[in-house]
Amino acid sequence: MQNYLDKQWADVMLDLEDTISAVGLDLWVRKIKPINIDDDTLIFIAPNEMVRDTIIRGYTKQISEAMMKNFKLCKFDFILDKDKDAYISSHHLLDHNGGDELPRAITNEEIPENPFNPRYTFSNFVVGTTNRVIYAATRAVAENPGTRFNPLFIYGGVGLGKTHLLHAIGNYIWEANKGNIKIVYVSSETFANDLIDILRSGRDKGTVEFRKKYRFADVLLVDDIQFISNKKAVQEEFFHTFNDLYQAGKQIIIASDRPPKEIQELEERLSSRFASGLVQDIQKPDFETRVMIINKKIELEGYSFDNSLIPTLAEKLEKFNIREIEGVLNKLDLFAKLHGKFVVDEEVVSEVLSKSHELEVSVGRVVTQDKIIEAICSKFNIRKDELFGKKRTKELVEPRQICIYLMWKKLNIPLTAISKLFNRDHTTAIHARDKVIEMMKEDMSVKKMIEELEDLIVH
Ligand code: ADP
Ligand code: MG
Repeated sequence: MQNYLDKQWADVMLDLEDTISAVGLDLWVRKIKPINIDDDTLIFIAPNEMVRDTIIRGYTKQISEAMMKNFKLCKFDFILDKDKDAYISSHHLLDHNGGDELPRAITNEEIPENPFNPRYTFSNFVVGTTNRVIYAATRAVAENPGTRFNPLFIYGGVGLGKTHLLHAIGNYIWEANKGNIKIVYVSSETFANDLIDILRSGRDKGTVEFRKKYRFADVLLVDDIQFISNKKAVQEEFFHTFNDLYQAGKQIIIASDRPPKEIQELEERLSSRFASGLVQDIQKPDFETRVMIINKKIELEGYSFDNSLIPTLAEKLEKFNIREIEGVLNKLDLFAKLHGKFVVDEEVVSEVLSKSHELEVSVGRVVTQDKIIEAICSKFNIRKDELFGKKRTKELVEPRQICIYLMWKKLNIPLTAISKLFNRDHTTAIHARDKVIEMMKEDMSVKKMIEELEDLIVH
């Protein structure tokens, strides 16, 4: 280890000759010596406080950058010469002249390359009434990670900008710190895949590896956490990772398509941990925000649009999320080009939008029977065979009635056909539909719940 440190440090010193004056090097930098790598931090021995403080004040940036190149590490810390012996014995560093083994903290992950999508930045994010609060919160977190809103939990439907904001945080911190802060971005699918890999290598060993990987994070960004519902083992690991990082004051940001309480089978201890910071939703854009978004996308993509059409377009795209709006703009642009036009004009808009069904198909907005069934089962946490079964407990009757109502409303098929599907007679289906309509009139919360379901099934 020591040989390795000395060798790498010699290379760092060579690089530093380019960035630090000869006097600076001789007076200060040559006085320190690397002694260990502790987690992801290079530890130096400094002869006294003055050398330590001068280096921290004057040369942190240059040393970090040169270290990054040679050690793939950027953090460093000091112990004073007088504390050296205590440090050595408490860290079992007896083997001073040991072999050349590589310290484990060095992994490919530490090679500094911005992993975030360059398009997903704060400046490309349009702020309107429906996302103002979450924008401010993510911005605050990016500017001062680990100090406020920890954890930050963002939730909202698909295509509303959650992933965009996570990347914006990543990009911002990356730019501000040039890799000095380690940011780990993980979709929960990656999390789960990691877990599968490590379980293969044996539970105990695997778990240790798993935690090691995430434990180095200064900022942990987890996208689509809802995928860990029903995955007990992942939840277990995530819980430990979360606690380790949280207790060390590291920033954690989580995105989900629903609030913590509604993630099925999420352990109570996890959901209350998530809720202990700031839980903030992100909503569908309102009219004004849609106008701004359309303008921004036109600018970013370099589309040519007749500007007077934008309000109409924003109105027509009322039910669309932002990803879908992007899809429609792209389609309009393409249509214009295919017809030899330089500008998206009224004719193009009315031509493309009049085929509204086609448009809905093209952006994946068609409701199917399966989507309804899936939404009901997931919302009420029941199985498909229970939904279609004979049992008449309250837990099943209500979802069944709502399912019938939604099929009637959304699929445009007659109630007789729906009743056959459920193996029931026609009057039962009529009753179910009317019952739901009545409940929605009487109880705002039922109305809201059904509207949310409707939202869910168009995605
Ligand atoms: P989610 O993760 O919530 O499903 P994304 O972050 O993937 O949604 O966003 C979908 C698309 O919409 C992306 O291309 C993103 O850049 C864009 N988008 C979302 N919100 C905004 C916004 N407020 N301003 C500009 N673009 C946005
Ligand atoms: Mg996303």
